[in-house]
Amino acid sequence: MIEFKIRDFLYPRRLIYWRWLLSRSQYYSRERLQTLQWRLFSKMLDHCFENVPHYRELFRKHGLDRADFSGLDDLSKIPILSKDYLLEHHDEFKADNFTEFHPKAIHTSGTTGSPLTVYWDSDSNVVEFTSIWRHFSWLGYRLGEPFLDIRSVILDAAEGYKWNYKCRGLEFSSDIIDESNIRRYADLLRKYRVKLWRGHPAAISAFCHILAEAGIEDVKPKYVFTASEAVLDHQRKSIEDWTGVPVCDNYGLKEHNVLITQCPQGGYHVAMEYGIVEIVKDDGTPAGPGEEGRIVATGLHNKAFPLLRYDTMDYATRSDAYCPCGRTLPLVENLTGRIDDRVLTADGRWVSGLHFAFFLPKGIRRAQLLQKEELGLDVYLVPNREFAEDTAKLLTADLKKKLGDAMEIRIHMVEEVPYRSCGKFKFVINQMDKKPPK
Ligand SMILES: [Zn+2]
Repeated sequence: MIEFKIRDFLYPRRLIYWRWLLSRSQYYSRERLQTLQWRLFSKMLDHCFENVPHYRELFRKHGLDRADFSGLDDLSKIPILSKDYLLEHHDEFKADNFTEFHPKAIHTSGTTGSPLTVYWDSDSNVVEFTSIWRHFSWLGYRLGEPFLDIRSVILDAAEGYKWNYKCRGLEFSSDIIDESNIRRYADLLRKYRVKLWRGHPAAISAFCHILAEAGIEDVKPKYVFTASEAVLDHQRKSIEDWTGVPVCDNYGLKEHNVLITQCPQGGYHVAMEYGIVEIVKDDGTPAGPGEEGRIVATGLHNKAFPLLRYDTMDYATRSDAYCPCGRTLPLVENLTGRIDDRVLTADGRWVSGLHFAFFLPKGIRRAQLLQKEELGLDVYLVPNREFAEDTAKLLTADLKKKLGDAMEIRIHMVEEVPYRSCGKFKFVINQMDKKPPK
């Protein structure tokens, strides 16, 4: 959930500056946007040459001096960074002056099923916050309007919801909302006068469906933003049909080095001020217009833990078109990396977003979940050196919390996860005949 942190208030000048800049730069010419990117990237390069052990060593090994970088095109001199390499050499990416940037540790598994700890520093938090604020503004949202965050999560709240008065945010778990309690949740939306909904697309479309079935019409949101998972066509249609407003999707990583936000006209805009996005084909060459490739991301703000040319393992198609909305931020199409299947729980619900289960146990390099029958789940784990005896136990307990005690969890220790198709990785695979309702 986005919220104001006390620390953000300590940087009001930066907040005001970035809010002001982002409101203007979305209409800059491409050349001016590239000039801005180069200014930010230059500073990041200076920092990496001076303060970041991994990059000092990498540049030395490749015989690269700072003078070898004189424009954005020189970015390609840096080798692409894989998540596996980052996991193996994690601490070398921390800057020598790491603590000066007030980093906060964040645990993630993203869409690749590999747990990773990254760090958010104060600068990247300010740019993250103001960028999301800009995205919300595209539909007319004003800061301070109450919002709902709805996901498939385990909420640590006896009441079945959370209200965060600091950011005026209400939090629901779609796992526990059904026709028996929907009126209570509708009352909460009325009580807190919620205008904006954000969350997992599967959670939002299920919520719309239950409200529609119950005939509750007066709690419809003015704005809908989806995040964390690819929004499927049927989900988008059912949400838009019921709410009457466009769904604006958001693609970002916990690594804080790429942000792509969808405007009400449907364009997926790359936030060039946030990070450099390259679309790279599997042979390592840049994709041309209309060609698909992996998203390779270079963060422009996180100095505590910089990641340059980071392979997100997510796919998109490059576009050279301009969006009818008038914003000049470049477009990508067909964001396909985040499409996972779903798992049928012991009590008959379809759930996704299981990544949280891998936050806690250390010692897992990669994981994949396979469901072949209703009450069984095969979990393939690639361990790393930190794997301990209780890792599998912790994981099983977490998964049972989500999927029900009756679900049989079978853990398999493997050298590599078994299922890949066309090089694309899916964290969740469902091979049952029974499929989620459309
Ligand atoms: Zn647009």
